[in-house]
Parts: sequence; C-alpha cells; structure tokens
Amino acid sequence: MSDAPTRVLDASAVRDATGVAHRPGSVVVQARRIVDVGPPDAMRARYASADTLALGGTLIVPAMVNAHAHLDLTALGRRPMTGDFIDWVDMVMRERPQSSEAIRAAVRDGLTQSAQAGVGWIGDIAGSDAAVEARWIGGDGAWPGGVSFLECFGIGRAADDAARRAWQRYEALASQCERAVVGLQPHAPYSAGDALYEMLSAHREIGASTHLAETAEENEFVQDATGPFASLLQRLGKWDDTIRGHGVSAVGRLRRWLEDRPWVVAHGNYVDDADLDLLSRCPVSIAYCPVASEYFGHRDHRYRDMLEAGINVCLGTDSIVCQRPDAAQPLGIVDQMRRLHELDGTDPWRLLAMATTNGAKALGLEEGCGTLRRGAPARLVALQFDARDATDPLTQVLRNNHPARALQD
Ligand SMILES: [Zn+2]
Repeated sequence: MSDAPTRVLDASAVRDATGVAHRPGSVVVQARRIVDVGPPDAMRARYASADTLALGGTLIVPAMVNAHAHLDLTALGRRPMTGDFIDWVDMVMRERPQSSEAIRAAVRDGLTQSAQAGVGWIGDIAGSDAAVEARWIGGDGAWPGGVSFLECFGIGRAADDAARRAWQRYEALASQCERAVVGLQPHAPYSAGDALYEMLSAHREIGASTHLAETAEENEFVQDATGPFASLLQRLGKWDDTIRGHGVSAVGRLRRWLEDRPWVVAHGNYVDDADLDLLSRCPVSIAYCPVASEYFGHRDHRYRDMLEAGINVCLGTDSIVCQRPDAAQPLGIVDQMRRLHELDGTDPWRLLAMATTNGAKALGLEEGCGTLRRGAPARLVALQFDARDATDPLTQVLRNNHPARALQD
C-alpha cells in the first residue's frame, strides 16, 4: 500500500452505473484511486486512521464523460438560435477565436468550466492545432482527461490533399504527447470526402469521430448533392463537379467505414429504421447532445430505440453556444440528463450509464473510468439531494436544480 493519505468520503448515497449502490455510502480514496466503497460504518472501521470528509445530503457518482464538445467555441458564450443552421454555421465561422492565444484561452476556460461541473473526461472537437496543444502540450495538466479529435475538412477533389495534411498535423501533434489523447474527426459527410474517412480505416489505433445525420438537409445533400449544403459549398468555393449524390442516407453513405472500426458519431438526429439497423451492426457510439439538438429544432431523437438495439449511446454538450441561457453549468452533463428526464421520463440510472460508462467506452478510456470500482480513478462528483426524502437520490437530483460539485482527485 502507498504512503499517500487515505480519505473516507461519507455521503448520503453512493452509486454508479455498474451496480455499486449504498445509501448511505462511503468512497475511500488514496493516491487518486478508489481503494474501497461500502457502507460508512464498515468503511470507517476498516480505515480507522483515515481522514473522514462528511458530505451530508449528497449523492456521490463517478465524474462524467462529455463525449462531444467544442471547447474552442467557449469564448462565444451562449447565443440565441436565429435563422437556420447555415446562418448559424456562418456566425460560428465569423466569430470563433482565430489567434492561437485566443483559442488556447477558450479551450482552457472550457476545461475549467467542465471540471467544475463534474466532467472527468471530454471528447473535444479541436478546430485547430492550438486547441489540441492547449490541452496536452506544455499545459498545466490534463484534467479533465479524454481525447482531442483534430477536425478536418475537404470534399471533392480537395479530399485527398486534405487527408494528407490532416495526417501530417496528427503526426506532429501526437508525437508531442501521449498518442491516445489525439484522434481525428472528418467533419461530416457534407464537408469531408472518402479519403478522410478512409484514413481512419487505415489507422484503427487512432480515436475517430464525425458529425453524422445531424440535419435533414445533410441527408438531402448525401442523397442528391442538392439543398443548403450544396449551396454552402458553392458559396465557399469548395464545390466541384466530382461532388455527387450517393442515393443513400448519411448513415448509409458511411457504411463501409462505420462497419470497419469504432467511431464516435455525434448527433444521429435523423436516423430511419434502416439506418438504425445498420448502426446496431457497427461498433459505433452515438454521442447524443440533447440540449443542442433541441436548440437547433431537432425532435424525437431515437436514443431509446438505439439503446434497445444495443447501440452504445452516450451524452455530449456540443458547444457552449447551444446551451440554455439559464444553465448554471452549461458544460456539465447533469443538465443534459435533467433535460432527458424531464422530456421523456427516462430512467435516471439509464441516464447515468449514458453519462459515465457509455461515454468511457466511446472514448476508449482506461478500464474503470466512470465507475466507483476499486482501482478506478478517484474522479468523483457530489450531487445534492434531500436525504430525508425516501425518493431515489438520483431521481431527486434530476428534478432539482443544484449545481454538481467536483470532488478533486
Ligand atoms: Zn459538434
């Protein structure tokens, strides 16, 4: 056993998505790892010389996984949705931070806000090298952990060159840090051509993510090469005559790559039965961003059908721009859970699995991340509830509005 001090965290309840459950309960931590978990009396007896921290009226759960964020947009803050999706994309292109210093500052701000909200791991979409560097290279520690997916664009004749450039950028960044923390994200089927997806089939060891089936217009573009995304490419000078319709849905378009290796697929708002069937046969994780989907006017996400079909559905925030103006912790995952509980009455413990273990699987995190099992990283969150009320603690948390509190490891 190490000489690091042992601490017993006494709470009114402890719970994770793997079946650890005590009310009241204690988590014992040492050297940033969970060494034990159980009823408070038993834990205090077993660790009699340890410091005890009393956290009355709280539920301790594992830190959460935000499987799809854009931390480099944190500087934009929350904005009302006006106009259509293309107007919104224009606004982001115009207003996103441009200098390396501004991008780093935005990412660092996003990391701080995420950590305070109890997020332990993030799948961040990095719009530039600076957004990766801010997290992993010469920074002040990698908390929250996770993966930065370097985003790449290039369609039509530009795709082959774009893939070569993206690969060079990936290599340059990954050689300066732990390789597992850098991945790649071909932006979406309306902005990234075959070569960018193919590149990730050739390198299965690298984390892969993409936006997919986010809008109905994306399905139209993939089907017929028409609609607002075709106009956008023309306006941006990115259109050429090799860009054509594929006569299939956006999910169908990526079939051979989705079947081939794990992907984190952001959104999946427009998925029909055939798409769902295909996804259920692929090693994909769906990063559903409920608040962002609602912000853009998308309804009736099929996350419950996906879960029933065995698809690994996890949760993301998308960018801060899309979060609700009254959210106290816009980059936290608890508000995403609260919204789904409110909208659909989704089972709280199913939501906790989406927020923790499913996200950990999506990002390929170390075994135990997002659980309270012995040996897991001691990244924990305290959620306030009324211990005198017999109602299930997490159900209470999803119905109250108290901020999450990170328990630093
Ligand atoms: Zn996104």
